[in-house]
Amino acid sequence: MTEESFDGIKVNGRSYRKPTARTVVICFDGCDPRYISHGLSAGLLPNISKIMSEGFFAIADAAMPTFTNPNNMSIVTGAPPKVHGISGNYYLDKATGREVMITDASLVSSGTVLAALADAGMRVAAITAKDKLRKMLGSGLKGICFSSERAREATLKENGIDEVERLVGRPTPDMYSPDLSLFVLDAGIRLLETRRADVLYLSLSDMVQHSAGPGEELADSFNREVDKRVGRMLELDAVVAIVADHGMTDKCTPDGQPQVVYLERALNDQFGPSSVRVICPITDPFVRHHGALGSFVRVYRKKGAPLATQLHAVRALPGVDAVLTREEACARWELPHDREADLVVTGDRNTVIGASAAEHDLSALAGHRLRSHGGAFEQRVPFLLSHPLTAEYRATSESRALRNFDIFDFALNGVQ
Ligand SMILES: [Zn+2]
Repeated sequence: MTEESFDGIKVNGRSYRKPTARTVVICFDGCDPRYISHGLSAGLLPNISKIMSEGFFAIADAAMPTFTNPNNMSIVTGAPPKVHGISGNYYLDKATGREVMITDASLVSSGTVLAALADAGMRVAAITAKDKLRKMLGSGLKGICFSSERAREATLKENGIDEVERLVGRPTPDMYSPDLSLFVLDAGIRLLETRRADVLYLSLSDMVQHSAGPGEELADSFNREVDKRVGRMLELDAVVAIVADHGMTDKCTPDGQPQVVYLERALNDQFGPSSVRVICPITDPFVRHHGALGSFVRVYRKKGAPLATQLHAVRALPGVDAVLTREEACARWELPHDREADLVVTGDRNTVIGASAAEHDLSALAGHRLRSHGGAFEQRVPFLLSHPLTAEYRATSESRALRNFDIFDFALNGVQ
């Protein structure tokens, strides 16, 4: 293909063709591969099963940290966090010393595939479950962009669409119900049925996966409902691509108690009060899922012992997986250097890391085991395409590990 004949866009060094078939990319939030394997063996996922036999299925690696915002941004930019600048939900602004929840696009430092496709004349829709993600995903996007959490409030001016409840045929869902995600899929289906969008990015919520593992009724019935909607998109002749932002692991002791390292407390006990501040970048307004406990935290050294001494102290704690300096973390996980802490600490498979007990309300978890994500044990995610790959992309998939943020490349350039 010559440069002149290329009908597409370039974003962050990658080229994307403008699709001729309508294309839906689903971010199946928190869909650990174990939900797929269980769903297939239990017969819950007939449509995903069909995709696997007729299209393409692989396991890909999510970006680190394995949190929702960094990975959604990686998926829509086709790039790791060092390119788009979002490496958590919550961060410490080193310039001001303030701790900030990221809810707008001010920290997004690159363009998105969605915005570029819209600029190239495609009709693009981005629908999210949680409103906290909407402005980031919609960064620069001239198209439809709304959340199911705030569907009722969508306006043409702000969201490129109004009367969403009428479109979907039911009221805005409760923010803690599985319908928060199903509403996203149903809205996408209605946009396909009414021919209002060519490219759709549908990003779900991981509330169900935080609450229930494979085989538990809540998860099984939710996954069955998602699969039904995938089937409807296939009926509508869309190319459907499914990927996840991160996996999900049980973070409990064998007797069901949350397995937590309170790292700020441990270091301040050892090195003196206010020696460090620990930031948990999983923190978000949806505290009921996980009590702000994940398997990845950032340690800011304030005073006391030298960094190397603190690093060795962290490494000695049971339940800790990796302890990296800023330079090491940025090199290994392609993180933005200017937003990284002095130390980055991850929990092992069944351990989450918090600041101090007072900062994490575990009473909210009543009724289910702590399940969470953030570390390297939640990097494996499913990567599915409804159509077979071209020979070139099949070769690519065999020659290197896929990333979840390869999904737009594969969906737009790689299917037959
Ligand atoms: Zn997530």
